[in-house]
Amino acid sequence: MKLLIPDAILPSVQDINLDDLRRRGIAGLLIDIDNTLVPWGNPQMDQALVQWIKRAKARGFQICLVSNALPDRTASFAQLLDIPAVGQAMKPLPRAFRRGMELLNLPPGQVAVVGDQLFTDVFGAKRLGLYAILVNPLSTGEFGFTKIMRRLERRTLRRLVRRGLLELESIRSRLGRD
Ligand SMILES: [Mg+2]
Repeated sequence: MKLLIPDAILPSVQDINLDDLRRRGIAGLLIDIDNTLVPWGNPQMDQALVQWIKRAKARGFQICLVSNALPDRTASFAQLLDIPAVGQAMKPLPRAFRRGMELLNLPPGQVAVVGDQLFTDVFGAKRLGLYAILVNPLSTGEFGFTKIMRRLERRTLRRLVRRGLLELESIRSRLGRD
């Protein structure tokens, strides 16, 4: 259960406080793509997010994309943002997160994972001792397996609230229906 508790829950990537991360000793970010930086399956990234990544880089943060998407899709965003990427990550397996840390040349204590999913991004991060930032998914039109996972995710978040491990306020916007 502990491995499912995010260190921070934010509406979007743009709400990440870089000063706060720096105070925590974090120097690198491993960022998810689908539903974190672009709506699921979308080929275009919002300019505001492109600018945010640029600003974070200019502030000295090292950034790598870690995505379960196919390498082609991952590579196109990596190219756009001029940062490294690990595609077909099979999160929450540790391999891709480790590869990302290798690419940034940073130890676990200095790395944060940013993503929209509890069971892939947060769990994958926490089991390796990384700081985990959960953001709201950019699009809610999800199908099949992801839809089932979202339901399970909401159930788990509610359970964490009942056990006093999470503030209801922090996850209210994710709960929605059911
Ligand atoms: Mg995602």
